[in-house]
Amino acid sequence: MTNFEPFDFAPLLRPEGFCCACGRVHNADIRLLAVGPNILPSLPDQLDVLGFARSFIVADANTYAAVGERVCRILKEKEIPYGTYVFPHRTSKLQPDENAVQAVIDGFDPACDLILAVGSGTIGDICKAAATKLSIPQITVGSAPSMDGYTSASSSLELNHTKASIPENAPIGVICDTSVMAEAPLRLIHAGVGDVLAKAHSLIEWKIAALVRGEDYCAPTAALVRQAYERVTDGMESAVRREETGIRAVIEGLLLSGICMTLAGTSRPASGQEHYFSHCWEMMAIARGEEYELHGIYVGVGTLLALRILEKLITLHPTLEHAEAAAERFDESAWEARLHRVFGQTAESFIALEKKTQKNEKTRRMQRVGKILENWDELVRLIREDLPDTDALEEKMRRIGMPTRPADIGLRKQAVLDAFVCSRDTRDKYLTSSLIWDLGYMDEFESWLPEIL
Ligand SMILES: [Zn+2]
Ligand SMILES: [Zn+2]
Repeated sequence: MTNFEPFDFAPLLRPEGFCCACGRVHNADIRLLAVGPNILPSLPDQLDVLGFARSFIVADANTYAAVGERVCRILKEKEIPYGTYVFPHRTSKLQPDENAVQAVIDGFDPACDLILAVGSGTIGDICKAAATKLSIPQITVGSAPSMDGYTSASSSLELNHTKASIPENAPIGVICDTSVMAEAPLRLIHAGVGDVLAKAHSLIEWKIAALVRGEDYCAPTAALVRQAYERVTDGMESAVRREETGIRAVIEGLLLSGICMTLAGTSRPASGQEHYFSHCWEMMAIARGEEYELHGIYVGVGTLLALRILEKLITLHPTLEHAEAAAERFDESAWEARLHRVFGQTAESFIALEKKTQKNEKTRRMQRVGKILENWDELVRLIREDLPDTDALEEKMRRIGMPTRPADIGLRKQAVLDAFVCSRDTRDKYLTSSLIWDLGYMDEFESWLPEIL
């Protein structure tokens, strides 16, 4: 099966970039990307080639035990000096917040010329923020195939009791030893699979955004992300059996989709409505002081919801009159009250965002409606063309033990409705929920959604 062949990243990572058929030059500034079995011992040579003499290793209790200790041993054997900062927490308890970032900055040994982050999402996000503040380059040694943010130039941090995506310098390198990753907890492998399955929806939404909002779309990048998706749908069963080929398919799918976001210069190829379910559930949990699930687990559940929402959407026959009546009925104070009920204090930042973007303003809304109605047949065609068999996808996820329904991870129906209705308010991005709101169908979807939960 071709999808089990190792993926050749080199052509995507040329420093001069490549001229794409979409007319742009794409560039992903990553100097080192190594994936394969038993490659950890090559770390000293890789650091040497890149000219780094002393690394500052950052891990938490779990990732130190899983990989960090071995990294230290490998460096010690070659008599290469290094510093360390190990969070005493276990991964599930470590929050990527200001305190954690400051702890790395405070513990940093100024004799070091590199931050070597050992972990996956949480450690990676903390280190990106610390490395950016310290103006020091970062390389990540991955501990689990759990999310696609390894190469990204942003970190997902908890700030002021909410979750925010902060622009940071991207790591200059990532090393993923698949023999190490094969030992990762099953839940993290499930999460990685979920983060790639998301592309079944995000790629369709990217096309919709290009059609009705005129956003930049790059077909070759979309085709690469589709490859990442196919690698994972082919390899997910092998991955949970912890076979090298399957683990490799998942981590390569994750890295590829991460790189594609950099190439496209937007998160569009890899993140859409399905990710906003996840963002909202995280923010809702943080607002209530509750723990939340792994990103990729939420995203997997969100993907099935988002796909079923698209299935429903293309059965509708939207009209100008229907959209206009909804725009007339819009009640700003009810809208604000709901944001407050769902997100607590964080609602204020969404209300402030609306003051800037004015997406609720009637004239702008009706202009968007005009554009959607003009392109409706084409939009339905695009969705139909790429919509996967959602039942079959859910069955595949179930077979490997992944949660597929909100109730599987303890989410109540109201949490699904709130996340869907409010997702369009949380950032300035045009989502499937934005389109449904514009057309005046939000009430209909709120009544219908419980049927699929
Ligand atoms: Zn392109
Ligand atoms: Zn993701």
